[in-house]
Amino acid sequence: MNYETVIGLEVHLQLSTNTKAFCGCSTKFGQPPNSQTCPVCLGFPGSLPVLNEEAFNYAIKVALALNCKIQDLIKFDRKNYYYPDLPKNFQISQYDMPLSYDGFVDISSGAKRKRIRIKRVHLEEDAGKLMHPAGENYSLVDYNRGGMPLLEIVTEPDLSSPEEAYDYLTKLKSILGYLKVSDCDMEKGSLRCDANISVRPRGETKLGTKVELKNMNSFKGVKLGLEYESKRQVAAIGDNEKLVQETRLWDVEKNITVSMRSKEEAQDYRYFPEPDLVPFVVDKITIEKVRKDLPELPEAKTDRFVKEFGLSEYDANVLTSDVDFAGYFETCARSYKNAKTIANWLMGDIMAQMNTRNAGIKELGLTADGLVALLKMIDSQAISGKMAKEVLLEAIETKKDPAIVVKEKGLSQISDSSKIEEVVSVVISREAKTVADYKNGKKAAITFLIGQIMKETRGKANPGLVNEILKKKLGE
Ligand SMILES: [Zn+2]
Repeated sequence: MNYETVIGLEVHLQLSTNTKAFCGCSTKFGQPPNSQTCPVCLGFPGSLPVLNEEAFNYAIKVALALNCKIQDLIKFDRKNYYYPDLPKNFQISQYDMPLSYDGFVDISSGAKRKRIRIKRVHLEEDAGKLMHPAGENYSLVDYNRGGMPLLEIVTEPDLSSPEEAYDYLTKLKSILGYLKVSDCDMEKGSLRCDANISVRPRGETKLGTKVELKNMNSFKGVKLGLEYESKRQVAAIGDNEKLVQETRLWDVEKNITVSMRSKEEAQDYRYFPEPDLVPFVVDKITIEKVRKDLPELPEAKTDRFVKEFGLSEYDANVLTSDVDFAGYFETCARSYKNAKTIANWLMGDIMAQMNTRNAGIKELGLTADGLVALLKMIDSQAISGKMAKEVLLEAIETKKDPAIVVKEKGLSQISDSSKIEEVVSVVISREAKTVADYKNGKKAAITFLIGQIMKETRGKANPGLVNEILKKKLGE
């Protein structure tokens, strides 16, 4: 039987505010355990939470960028559960009235475009972090993360393949990068993704038994986990096995999913309104101000790059996928007229370097001015395109300016025709036999002569000029 996969994603995003969601503790990463705690985030009796205004504004910003509607009345709820990483035994979250709802993100999967509906975006606090030292019979808990502001971004089950899930996450991360509300670093846990996945016979409208998938630490992990889980569910149905609603973990070592627990239902959390935070109304002026201050987002930038710089939609899409990358391109394009050439270098050699080094354009250390200077050296034939590629590598490796690399390595190309003529004459008189072969119709002999000239100039002679001058002299 032919099955289709139904996926919904739940992203938890840590907002990069200076202080926690409901207290004044610092959110700085990597500090000594429990050094960033206070009576509020440790849940001491009598302590009272106060909503962080910046976290709230960030949340509105994300909600608007994801085309969501904003709730008139903002209310928080307690999600109750008992676990050592949660000293209050409840998490401040939002239940029946999320801060925002009914949005969408447009993705392009291959050539297909698709709208993924956003069910809700709500604000909540993070839990602490448990550590289980290897070989020990105890666990440790660090409450530094407890109370950090989190946004939960939930899609409708609109994703129909692991690839679409991957494309959605990539697009979402791109938008979040433009908004500068989070560092979106999955390794640090600033962006986490859980998935709900089920399969059903194609054409069926009822959803199949849903499995919640956790512990996927990269976008690639999400894709692999979903691929595995989709196949597992189809195989289970084929074997007449009954699927159960449960939470499963992605095991990155073994590349399988394993059952963790049966899935809890919302009623298990005994949600009720947080009595310590009074519901409030967000006035329309505040919302409109945030909307007005939204930056140009990836799609608008793509359209503008196509119009303003005459780029193809594909190129514009790649360049705008990351806000810093797009900014870098624009800085170059202001002082170098051929936008397509800049795009080719950025999307070719430079992007390859970013990938191998797992670095953003900023970490690469190559300034926009440096790149433009390099491109101008190619145009003026001071160096060849091949040399430029070497210079670029060296510049990135040593964090030196490309112009300085050219100077230090003595790489400047010889484009002075009188100098080249001199070398050509020397080689012609030295290699009389090869010259005779050439004149007797063995045209391939010219390759040897060119090789000798390049050797004499240590590869620095402008190849176009060498070819031209040599042919002229041989014809005489
Ligand atoms: Zn605190």
